[in-house]
Amino acid sequence: TEENQVVFFMSQELEQARQEIAQIQQSLEVHQSRFEAAMDNAKLGYVLFDSTARIVDVNERVKQWLRLSKADVLVGQSFHDFCGVMHANLGELATGHTRIEAFYALAQLGQKRTLNLVFHSGLVFQVTHSPVRDGGFMQTFEDVTARRKAEARANHLASHDVLTNLPNRRLLKQHIDVALSDSLANCAVLCIDLDRFKSVNDTLGHAGGDALLVEVSKRLRQCLREGDIVGRLGGDEFVILLSNIFNAEDAKNLAARVVAEIAKPFGILGQSVIVGASVGVALAPVDGDDPDRLIKRADMALFEAKRMGRGQYCFFENRLEERARERQALEADLRIAVVKQQFELFYQPVFSALQRKLIGFEALVRWNHPIRGRVSPLDFIPIAEELGLITDLGDWIINEACRTAATWPKNIVVAVNVSARQFVNHDLYGVVIQALLRHQLAPSQLEIEITESALMESDCDIALVLQRLREQGIGIAMDDFGTGYSSLAYLRRFHFTKVKIDRSFVNGLETETQSIAIVRAILALCKSLGIVVTAEGVETEAQADILRLAACDYLQGFYLGRPGSASDVRTLFAAPELPLFTPRLEAQQ
Ligand code: C2E
Ligand code: CA
Ligand code: CA
Repeated sequence: TEENQVVFFMSQELEQARQEIAQIQQSLEVHQSRFEAAMDNAKLGYVLFDSTARIVDVNERVKQWLRLSKADVLVGQSFHDFCGVMHANLGELATGHTRIEAFYALAQLGQKRTLNLVFHSGLVFQVTHSPVRDGGFMQTFEDVTARRKAEARANHLASHDVLTNLPNRRLLKQHIDVALSDSLANCAVLCIDLDRFKSVNDTLGHAGGDALLVEVSKRLRQCLREGDIVGRLGGDEFVILLSNIFNAEDAKNLAARVVAEIAKPFGILGQSVIVGASVGVALAPVDGDDPDRLIKRADMALFEAKRMGRGQYCFFENRLEERARERQALEADLRIAVVKQQFELFYQPVFSALQRKLIGFEALVRWNHPIRGRVSPLDFIPIAEELGLITDLGDWIINEACRTAATWPKNIVVAVNVSARQFVNHDLYGVVIQALLRHQLAPSQLEIEITESALMESDCDIALVLQRLREQGIGIAMDDFGTGYSSLAYLRRFHFTKVKIDRSFVNGLETETQSIAIVRAILALCKSLGIVVTAEGVETEAQADILRLAACDYLQGFYLGRPGSASDVRTLFAAPELPLFTPRLEAQQ
C-alpha cells in the first residue's frame, strides 16, 4: 500500500541517516581520540569549564602538574574545587604576585585574559582564560618557570654588578627614585671611595683587587639597617641609600661607621691589607630631589673628603658646588691655555752642598692666566692630568726646557718633572730624544723627575721607558722621596740616579730629631745604592748646615734661590758660586 511504501521509505531514510550518524560518530571519535592524544601530550595544560563553572574536560598535562594520577577524576569538580586542588598540591601563591582572588575573578570574566600564577616553590604558570560560546570557559596553562628564571637572571645581570652582586647604577637610581617618591621621608645618599685601592691592585694584582672589592661590599652590607641599600657604581666606588632617616645625625653615624669599618685590615689572598674609605653625603630633599642630582652632590662631598686628606666623611654644602663650578671654569681655561701657549718655565737653581757650586736647575711650569694671573702648578697640574692635557703640555715643557738648557754652560743640568700620565699611550721616550736632538742638548744635561706616588698609581710599564732613557745617559730622579712608600724595590727597579728628599723632612731638621734620623737613613741608603741625593725646600742656613754635615750631595730651596724666569736666572752663570745673600727671583707668595 501507499502507507506501507511511505513507512518503507521512511525506514530506509532512517537507516541511511542512522548509518550516516554512525559514520559521523566514528569519525568524531577518531577526532576526539586524536584531539585527546594531542592535548595529553601538549606542552599546554587545558581545563574546560561549562556555564556553571564545572570541569567538563581536562588533559593529562594538567593532572601531571597537579601531581594527580590518571585515575583521579577532575571532571565534574567546580572551579573552586580545582583551585583547592591546586593550592593543596602546588602550595601557596607567592605574595606580591597575582593573588588567588584575582584568579577566582577570572571565572566571572567574560573576556580573554592572561595572568601569571607564581607559587612559593618558584613554579610559574601562565594562565590564559578564554570564554566559550556556550557560557563556559577554557583555561590553558603553560609552565613558564624556566623562561621566567632566565628572564629574571637576565634582569638581575642587567641591574647588578657581576663581581659583588650589588645593585648597579641603574638599579640604585631606581631605588633612590622610589625612596624619593615618599614625600614625607628624608633619605641620604652616601658616595664611598676606597683610598689606596690602586696600590692594592698593583701589589696583589687584579685578583687581589677583586677579592678586596667583594670583602668591602660585605662589610658595607653589614653596616646597613634593613631596607637600606648598597650598590656599586664601578671601580672602587660604592653608594649607600638610606631611606627613611630621622635626621642628618643618622647619616653621619653611618658615614663614621663606614669609615671605621673599612679602615680595619682585610685578609686578602692570605695577606693583611689596609685600605680606607672616604665618604661624601647628600641629603634628600634638601640637597636634591632626583637621583642624579643627589649622587652628583654626594660625589662632590666625597671629592672634598678626599681633598681633606682621605679616611674622612664630608656632607654636601653649597660652597662645594661653587668650588666645582670654579674648577670647571678652570678646566675650560686650561684647555684654552694649552692651545694659546700661556705657559712659561721658571727655573730653580740647585747647588752642590759642599762647594755651593751651581750644578743645575729644576724647570717648574707657570701658567700666566690673562685674568687670574700666575696660577700655581699645584692647582692646575692635577687637572691637566685628569683632562689628559698633560701629554701636550708635558711635551711642550720638555722641549722648552731643552731649548733653554741648550743656551746654558755645558755642565749645567736641567731637571724636568713628568707625570705618570705622560707615559700612558704616549711615546715619551721619542719626545725626549727628539727634543735633545732638535736643541743639540747632551743627554747628560737632562734629568727626569718623577714621584714615587705617580709610579705606584700607574698600571703601565714606566720602568721600561725610564730604563731606556737612562741607557741614553739621561738622569732619573725620584721626587718627594719619603712621602710615599719610600720603597727600596722601586729605587732599584726604576734605575734612579738621584733621590730628592721631600721638603717636609728638611722643614723639621732644626726641631724634630725624627726628621734628622730619617734624612740620615735616606742618605746612608742612597750612598750604598750609588744614588746621589738632593735636599729640597732648604729655607735656612741652619738646615743647609745640617744637610752638609750629613753629607747630602745637593741643596735646593728658597734659601739658596727661588725659581726665576729663564732670563732672570742667567745672572747666576756670572758667579756660579753661591753669593752670600739669597737671590730673590720669584716674589714671595
Ligand atoms: P716639586 O717637583 O716638588 O717642585 C718643588 C716645589 O717646591 C716648587 O713649587 C718650588 O717652587 C717649591 N719650593 C722650592 N724651594 C722651596 C722652599 O724652600 N720652600 C718651599 N716652601 N717651597 C719650595 P711649584 O713650582 O709650585 O711646583 C709645585 C709642584 O708642581 C712641583 O713639586 C711638581 O710636583 C709640580 N710641577 C711643577 N712643574 C711641573 C712640570 O713642569 N710638570 C709636572 N708634571 N709637574 C710640575
Ligand atoms: Ca720636582
Ligand atoms: Ca719635590
